[in-house]
Amino acid sequence: MFMGPPGSGKGTQVRFLKEAHGWEHLATGDLFRDHLRLGTPLGRLAEEHMSKGHYVPDEVTVGMVRERLARIPASTRIVFDGFPRTVAQARALDELLGQHGRRVGCVVLLEVPREELLGRISTRGRSSARSDDSPEVLARRLEVYDERTRPVVEHYEKAGLLRRIEGVGGVDEIRARVAEVIA
Ligand code: AMP
Repeated sequence: MFMGPPGSGKGTQVRFLKEAHGWEHLATGDLFRDHLRLGTPLGRLAEEHMSKGHYVPDEVTVGMVRERLARIPASTRIVFDGFPRTVAQARALDELLGQHGRRVGCVVLLEVPREELLGRISTRGRSSARSDDSPEVLARRLEVYDERTRPVVEHYEKAGLLRRIEGVGGVDEIRARVAEVIA
């Protein structure tokens, strides 16, 4: 599982892992954006929350993950990206994984100081095509992360699964740190 605030470089590092190991990538943000492109009711509902920098309600998010999980063979490893983001989601995931005879192997947290994040966010906000990447919405997303996702970090820390990685430096340097932890 990969965790980190918006702007931490999570997406980039997860893509490396996916390529290196062939793991299934389960990214709830990507799934919501797919639904939005397809114009499904779920996509429209998600967009109402995403466009404001808020989280999509837990029942909706967990329901979507439940469906996706049911279609992944039990022998395939999964890297979760952007899920779980709330303690309720983390608990629901523990239960879901149990039903599939799975468990969380490792949680990687990419840590980036707040000032650095704010700098990256304003740059990304100018260059991104994503509707939720404007500087205002990104700032809101950081606040929501602090309120609702930090407790998830504690949840996995207590479970002894958390590995913290310094997310500052070159992309390859960070990739090497991640690879070491995963190994
Ligand atoms: P991401 O691509 O992971 O940055 O997600 C983009 C947006 O999708 C987030 O800002 C939320 O609005 C929504 N989203 C993605 N994953 C979740 C989740 N696990 N729980 C609630 N909302 C989510």
